[in-house]
Amino acid sequence: MKYIFDPGVLDHLTGNHPENPKRLERLRTLPITEVPIDVDPVYLIHPKSYVDRIQRAAENELPLDPDTRLSKTSFSAALKAVNATILASEQQGFAIVRPPGHHAYPEEATGFCIFNNVAIAAERLVQQGKRVLIFDFDGHYGDGTAHIFYHTDQVLYWSLHQYPAFPMKGKVNEIGGGPGKGYTVNVPLPPDAGDDIFMHAIDHFLPIAKQFKPDVVAVSAGFDAHLYDLLLQLRVSAGTFYKIGQILRENFDNVFATLEGGYNINEIAKCVENFHAGMNNLPMPHDETVTSSRHQVWQEYEINCHTALALLRPYWDV
Ligand SMILES: [Zn+2]
Repeated sequence: MKYIFDPGVLDHLTGNHPENPKRLERLRTLPITEVPIDVDPVYLIHPKSYVDRIQRAAENELPLDPDTRLSKTSFSAALKAVNATILASEQQGFAIVRPPGHHAYPEEATGFCIFNNVAIAAERLVQQGKRVLIFDFDGHYGDGTAHIFYHTDQVLYWSLHQYPAFPMKGKVNEIGGGPGKGYTVNVPLPPDAGDDIFMHAIDHFLPIAKQFKPDVVAVSAGFDAHLYDLLLQLRVSAGTFYKIGQILRENFDNVFATLEGGYNINEIAKCVENFHAGMNNLPMPHDETVTSSRHQVWQEYEINCHTALALLRPYWDV
């Protein structure tokens, strides 16, 4: 898995905001892949009226919501994030992009997200007849992505996320609708959950992802479940991101990733590098003490885990 990084994604200027260009400062030394600024793929998910509205708002530097700001150069940066993710999907790469995408709905920008990078790349693959697993290990629920693919059985959306937390969605009983019933897999984790719970959630829901037999795995790789992240209360150490990379490499043939969240600028590069090393079967670059969860947190999690498995059992052998 090679990195795909175009410094044009740093042109989305947000000022004093957790999602800012400094997040990628330590990754700026990555080799540069020039990414096109092509608007056409965006229309796979977002209507033209929405795209035009974003472009106008960026020209006028108007915020899209209280959390989601725009600068004059945000439109081109957001298009680069989309196109870098598409390039990653063609080359089994890891797109190092911002703004993130997984909270973006077809006609609504929210949670720092403008265009849904992973959903656009996944939809493009679906239109080529492929079955796509979207594995979202960002600490937030990717509500935009889940919404977009809620009614289809061509995309399995699997998310681990803190609950309760923004966007207050992603409960266990949201398992998809119509032909997509059983194809949304939500694993809500209580605040304070550590490595033990995070890995338990991966091990116990991985069989569903494998039974789906995806042609391609798209990873919404967010690193805000890390124990020193500023926005969430999960306590995942950097080594878990390495393990996730290893597990994906061992279980699936065709995997690409795109960066979502991760807001501690001193930690995100370590987490990114660990995940990348796990995907590439390289030694782990950053070791960190493993965390474990309190009894009460385990109890809360186990209720979610058992309920989710019970609800999904009619569709999968779990
Ligand atoms: Zn996040």
